[in-house]
Amino acid sequence: MNFEGLLFGPVPSRRLGFSLGVNNIPRKICSYSCVYCQIGRTINFSIKRQEFYSTDDILDALTRKIEEVRTGGGRIDYVTFVPDGEPTLDVNLGKHIEAIKSTGMKVAVISNASLIDNEDVASDLMDADWVSLKVDAIDDVKWKIIDRPHGSLNHSIILDGIRKFSEKYHGILATETMLVDGIQDLGEIHIIAEYLSSLRKLDLAYISVPTRPPAEEYVKPPSDELINAAFQVFNNHLGNTKVSLLTGYEGSEFFTGESLEDEILNILAVHPMREDALLEVIERSGESAEFVDHMVKYGKISKVPYMGKFFYILPPKIERIKPNS
Ligand code: SF4
Repeated sequence: MNFEGLLFGPVPSRRLGFSLGVNNIPRKICSYSCVYCQIGRTINFSIKRQEFYSTDDILDALTRKIEEVRTGGGRIDYVTFVPDGEPTLDVNLGKHIEAIKSTGMKVAVISNASLIDNEDVASDLMDADWVSLKVDAIDDVKWKIIDRPHGSLNHSIILDGIRKFSEKYHGILATETMLVDGIQDLGEIHIIAEYLSSLRKLDLAYISVPTRPPAEEYVKPPSDELINAAFQVFNNHLGNTKVSLLTGYEGSEFFTGESLEDEILNILAVHPMREDALLEVIERSGESAEFVDHMVKYGKISKVPYMGKFFYILPPKIERIKPNS
């Protein structure tokens, strides 16, 4: 077994601070083949949990890594299962989580939720400190178009499984909804928001857009108008849940002493701002509205209308494949 690439990072993450990634699934075994997947099309479709790495191997690699990071003066806020496939396909996931937690580290798992109705999977995830579950669509046809699930999966069972999990889970529960141009429209976004509002507990709802080269070339982020509208709809439905955008901008969140431009970009990276609120920030800093116009003119931010008001939003930062890379 090759253990190279089993751990990666720590990398700064807007969601998890400094996150040390665990790649507990060999490339690329997954129950979905999402059109936007940055790892490409699924080579090995599976819904069967299997053993890939032993907990001892993971713990061994982790102990060495923690030592190395600490010696270098670095920081790890979360050990995150975010592999090149679906992490819950690992039958030892629960054991790994338990062992990592016994070292005093916090554990996060980013899952596509496809196996959440399986009692063993739900029970494994119960012990994680932070769990993110994918909810890209409620409509069955849209789910099949965007996530391209394994033929044996049933969407209503998954949606029910997420609901049941939210009733029992005591850690931080997040959902992630990837918006793809031409797949989810505003009607579907309303239905997703309604579904999320029916969960008993939901701490964070992320709206993301494709920012890395996707599995299918036709995949593009939706318009800035739709991204902003989705944020407003989620916010209106999800009173006690923090709604955030993931537009690919990591910014200068981890540094202090920001410039006004950095401050604006950092705020807009996670949520759009109404025109009057942004102008207030500008005025407080002794600048004029021209400062904002200048940022719009140079494409750093976009101004979009929604329900008779204007909002500013950060356009998705799309990574392009460099020739010969
Ligand atoms: S669930 Fe994740 S790893 Fe699997 S295809 Fe979708 S984006 Fe890729």
